[in-house]
Amino acid sequence: MRISSLLPTAIAFASTSASTEPDAAAHLGHAIKLMSANPLIDTHIDLPQIIRSLHRNPHSALPSLNASFSGHIDLPRAREGHLGGAFWTVWAPCPDVLGDDPGPDFLNPTNHLRDALEMLDLIQGMITVHSDDLQFARSSSQVMDAFKAGKVASLIGLEGTHVLGNSLSSMRLLAQLGVRYVTLTHTCHSAFASSCGQVSGEVFNEVHEGNGLSALGRELVKELNRLGVMVDLSHTSVETMNQVIDLSEAPVVWTHSGSRALWDHPRNVPDDVLAKIGDGPGQIDGVVQSVFFPPFIGPYDEKNERWLANVSRVADHIEHIASVIGRNRVGIASDFDGMYLEVEGLEDATKYPNLVAELITRGWSDDEVIGVMGGNLMRIMDKVDAVAEAKKSELPSPAVWEKRGDLPATRWGGGGHNTYWPADVKKAVEDMGSWRHDEL
Ligand SMILES: [Zn+2]
Repeated sequence: MRISSLLPTAIAFASTSASTEPDAAAHLGHAIKLMSANPLIDTHIDLPQIIRSLHRNPHSALPSLNASFSGHIDLPRAREGHLGGAFWTVWAPCPDVLGDDPGPDFLNPTNHLRDALEMLDLIQGMITVHSDDLQFARSSSQVMDAFKAGKVASLIGLEGTHVLGNSLSSMRLLAQLGVRYVTLTHTCHSAFASSCGQVSGEVFNEVHEGNGLSALGRELVKELNRLGVMVDLSHTSVETMNQVIDLSEAPVVWTHSGSRALWDHPRNVPDDVLAKIGDGPGQIDGVVQSVFFPPFIGPYDEKNERWLANVSRVADHIEHIASVIGRNRVGIASDFDGMYLEVEGLEDATKYPNLVAELITRGWSDDEVIGVMGGNLMRIMDKVDAVAEAKKSELPSPAVWEKRGDLPATRWGGGGHNTYWPADVKKAVEDMGSWRHDEL
């Protein structure tokens, strides 16, 4: 723990705000006290992607996380920043950022599912190699168990359903492997849902009627409710957000988004969508984990061509979202290791206490601060678990992607005399003739 090395930087930053220097030191000290007793959970950290990007054999790099590692976070910096819990991200690139192209009907074979499994395996390896520092968690009680054991609770988020091979089977098995939330899209559309893309002002091709969920996407949302996997609406189109809110029986989350009212970027949540989150009539519960990435939170200095995002600006987004849906429905998500720009005062994982101190400076109560650190998210996790518990007797959805042409697998038994099928099966297949799969 190197708190002494954290203090001077943090005070230096805070002293540029309205607080006096002694106030800033007191607020930072109070932040660290709260963080020592309650977990701060960051819902989006892309460290696995950095490991994979830098190493031919990513597993061989895992031991070096215990020392200084490239990017925004390593274990010493997580400790120094009092990180209590982290959602490590499973992700593979969309075609628009160099990934495999599944084609207009999402049918071309890709390596996405293999890559996602390798990323998940890498996270599991990370937790195994660093069992003194990290402990797997899926539920709020497991987060608290890890925190009380002095370890960073390690949860798993899957970013983008384009990695699922259009298959609910893939999703069910990933849930068994510990995936706790699924971001319905990344920057590309998938067979399940429509994305908001990645560029502000871009008109993004509509692939599903209404630019929201496909029929399979609707089945996915129900399936995630049944499995107790949180539905994450960051990166999705507004239409996807609205359709999921109407459909989902469990609370929803935005794992790394800001407020669109404060900064008009498609990655942020509009107020009219936020108005549907709450415990009033026609609303569902949810939490928005506020992101750090400067192009999402602004502002931009046109004259000097640079982003001006700082810790105060991140707090502005949290406060605006809280003004619409309540201080009990906001949280923190850095996007560390998934962004090329840094926020002043939140440059890396050592700096989380600065954000907590900023909320204290703004008059947030201890209970409200503990909520934004992780309490609010854990309440939502518990509610999602309760929905899954109520659905535990429901059976898996049999739905398949409607454009698939490989089912029934009428070629799997061979052909002619060279067949693996029993005679009655062979006859049944032959009786199908040359019908297309969707006529059967
Ligand atoms: Zn993202």
